[in-house]
Amino acid sequence: MPSIRQEILSAIQNYDRIIIHRHMRPDPDALGSQVGLAEVLRASFPEKAIYQVGGPVEGLEYLAQMQEVADELYQGALVIVTDTANSPRVSDERFNQGELLIKIDHHPNDEPYGDLVWVNTHASSCSEMIADLAFSFPDILKLSTEAARLIYAGIVGDTGRFLYPATTAHTLEIAGKLLNYGFDAALLNRQLQQISRKVARLSGYVYEHIESDENGAAQVILPKETLEEFDIVDSETSAIVPLPGTIDDILAWAIFVHQPEGYYRVRLRSKGPIINTIAKKHHGGGHPLASGANARDLAEVKVIYQEIQALCKEYWEEMEEVEQKQ
Ligand code: AMP
Repeated sequence: MPSIRQEILSAIQNYDRIIIHRHMRPDPDALGSQVGLAEVLRASFPEKAIYQVGGPVEGLEYLAQMQEVADELYQGALVIVTDTANSPRVSDERFNQGELLIKIDHHPNDEPYGDLVWVNTHASSCSEMIADLAFSFPDILKLSTEAARLIYAGIVGDTGRFLYPATTAHTLEIAGKLLNYGFDAALLNRQLQQISRKVARLSGYVYEHIESDENGAAQVILPKETLEEFDIVDSETSAIVPLPGTIDDILAWAIFVHQPEGYYRVRLRSKGPIINTIAKKHHGGGHPLASGANARDLAEVKVIYQEIQALCKEYWEEMEEVEQKQ
């Protein structure tokens, strides 16, 4: 039986028109995997028409731009969606109007949409999977310098610069291979890391307003008024999400970002306890240690924080039990 990678390659070879999507509110891995794959395919099959589509890239213009694609172009096309676990989160809902649909992702496979599904939850990032695909067929798939830059950006983005536990020896091997393609990695790392002055000021606010308990559960609520005061929109909050985790006694946390519509976007992170169980209870999902959800109002915000607190408490109790058994 052909491997899923071979099946995906065959599908790519069989279609003249390929349209690639990713999730809403893109992060570097969404764009890295989507446009990285598009660039691999452009370099490998110059005769094919390859498109990258989706909503605004929200501050990541230095990585890539989207293309306008007319509805008719979906007829008879292959559509590939990268880095997106659930179909409602795919950016540009025309993704299911092609002839064949492929899902490539590294999140838990909560919704296996698509005719071909390749999910690897052990991959650090979806971009790592795109590199794996390309390196699996070196005689057919070629990486350009731009493809390598984008894929590298996705890996750096999703691993927090190789910090998070999803970083494996394989991740580092792939990153090392990509560096040989000659893009300016120092510049890219700087672009990924740098923040605007207003986000720097908001970072100060975040550190000042962390609420936490004795078990390392923490929360920061960013009300609409505060976001207005700092002149910040939702898409600019990504850089502040990891901040509570830099504090040694914080174990798991949520950042609640008040939206213009009145609900709260919930961004959950953890250094140990599995928090995507909480995300799933609140219209969300994601990775075990990095997930997202939505809270209707402050009452639901309170419930989510209480759930994080319970999880952290349980985590230390389990740790203590393990220690006692040793
Ligand atoms: P974020 O906090 O938006 O950076 O999201 C962290 C992770 O959770 C990402 O892998 C997202 O794909 C996932 N995620 C965020 N929001 C949602 C949601 N509403 N539903 C499902 N997954 C989500």
